[in-house]
Amino acid sequence: MTKRLNTLCIFCGSSFGRIPEYREIARELGKYLVSKDIKLVYGGGNVGLMGELARSIMDNGGHAIGVIPKRLYEKVEHVSLSKLHIVDDMHQRKSKMYELSDGFIALPGGIGTIEELTEVFTWHQLGYHNKPVGILNINNYFDNYIKLLSHMVKEKFLKEEHKNIIIHDENPYTLIEKMESFKPVKIEKWIKD
Ligand code: AMP
Repeated sequence: MTKRLNTLCIFCGSSFGRIPEYREIARELGKYLVSKDIKLVYGGGNVGLMGELARSIMDNGGHAIGVIPKRLYEKVEHVSLSKLHIVDDMHQRKSKMYELSDGFIALPGGIGTIEELTEVFTWHQLGYHNKPVGILNINNYFDNYIKLLSHMVKEKFLKEEHKNIIIHDENPYTLIEKMESFKPVKIEKWIKD
C-alpha cells in the first residue's frame, strides 16, 4: 500500500560537501519533489545543501517552508521561501518541523544533520511517531552510519527490526517510492536478554 507524502522534512548540510554530486542531487531531489507536488519543510537556511535544495524547490515553482530559531535568523541571509516560521529556540524548531511533516529524509551533512536524523529515528523506535525516515545515500556518504547500526544490532543494543526503520537509497526517486510503501515498526524497544 502506498501512503501519500504531502510534506517532507529534509535535513541536510549547511555546507556543500567536497564533490559537486552532493549539490547536484540536492537540486534534482528538489525538482522531483515539486513534480510530485510534495512540499518541503527544512531548517530555513540559505547556505550549503540546505540553500541549494530550497532554491531548487522555489525555482521549479514548488512550496518550501523554513523553520528557523530567532537567533539563527538574525545571523544569516535568507532564501525567499513560501513560508518562514521564526521560532524561539532549537527545541521549538524541531517540534514545528515534526508537526508539519509526513516523513523525514537526511541528505549528507555534518553533525547537525546526523543529530536531526538520529533524533527522528529514536522517536520512531520509542513509538512517538510512525512516519518514514529515509537517508539519501549520495556517494555512499552514510555507509559508515549504516555500518554502525549493524554493529549495534550485533552487540545487542538495537533490534534488527528497529534498524530497518531507516530506509536508504542512493537514488532520490527510489527512496521516495520506498518511503511511500513503508510500514511503521511497532515492536517494543528493549532487548531483554
Ligand atoms: P550541519 O549538518 O552540521 O551542517 O548542520 C545542518 C543543520 O544545522 C541544519 O539542518 C540546521 O538545523 C542547522 N543550521 C546550520 N546552519 C544553519 C543556517 N545558516 N540556517 C539555518 N539552519 C542552520
